[in-house]
Amino acid sequence: MAVLAIDLGGTRIKLGVVQDGQILARTILDARSQEGLEAHLPMITEQLKEIAPAQAEGIGMAFPSLVDSRTGKVTRDSGKYRDSLDLDLNAWIEREFAIPFAIENDARLATIGEWRFGAGRGFENVVMITLGTGIGTSAVIGGRVLRGPHGQAGCLGGHTIANVGGHRCPCGAIGCAEAEASTSNLDLLAHEDPGFRTSALHRESRLDYAAVFRAARQGDTCAMRLRDRSLDVWASVGISLVHAYDPEILIYGGGIMAAGEEVLGPVRERVLRDAWMPWGTLSVVPSQLGDDAALLACEWLVQSKRMEKDEIAFA
Ligand SMILES: [Zn+2]
Repeated sequence: MAVLAIDLGGTRIKLGVVQDGQILARTILDARSQEGLEAHLPMITEQLKEIAPAQAEGIGMAFPSLVDSRTGKVTRDSGKYRDSLDLDLNAWIEREFAIPFAIENDARLATIGEWRFGAGRGFENVVMITLGTGIGTSAVIGGRVLRGPHGQAGCLGGHTIANVGGHRCPCGAIGCAEAEASTSNLDLLAHEDPGFRTSALHRESRLDYAAVFRAARQGDTCAMRLRDRSLDVWASVGISLVHAYDPEILIYGGGIMAAGEEVLGPVRERVLRDAWMPWGTLSVVPSQLGDDAALLACEWLVQSKRMEKDEIAFA
């Protein structure tokens, strides 16, 4: 039976109908996460009902922060949809759809999607890093999704320290990879560069990594410094996670990976050069499913939650 899927991004909300690893229907809504989730719920409800089949097995939601997948509650403020800490999403789903509901961190769901249907298919030990507004990570170890007692195991790779004494991160630590090389802090990082005022980046109305890579290709020294520094940081996250989780495959995804081999080539070279792997080597590959990974994983999420309940009921 089909599953309804919701992927909450900061500026876009993706809705889909998923069955047997295929997206049967989808729609995308514009979103403003700073206005909170409650303001978006009527629109999500209406659009989801429009594409929903007559019967659905459940609803899965990818959320851009830490969540408790057992209780269905958001547990950490990530700066997006801040009101969701106090929202009863279970009650909303029960009231509007009356079918089972499961929620999970978005980077973890992207990893599950790639593991089941994409670049990580056939592997039992998978680590994925998503490079975008922030840096999300997650791990599958021995064929099991790593969650930990508080739901954060494997998810905080973006907060490995890449620069001791560096920039303050919203998480409270100093020098996290996310504070040193993600779109969320790119404006500050660029302004700190001594060549910024004479750089092509200074004329950009909206600074993102696409602009940085474009200017770097044209020989802009400020952009080249930002690009090379960021590649080092993204490789350092991969190396730290290889050391932590011993994966067979390391997948890089997220919006910044739209630049493809321009990002992955140097990152792969640095990971394979510097990670301690006396046993051999591993695959460092791009995501295959892109934006669809988390939506597709919602089917697995709903089904695995139902199986967990069945196991408890029969124990
Ligand atoms: Zn941090």
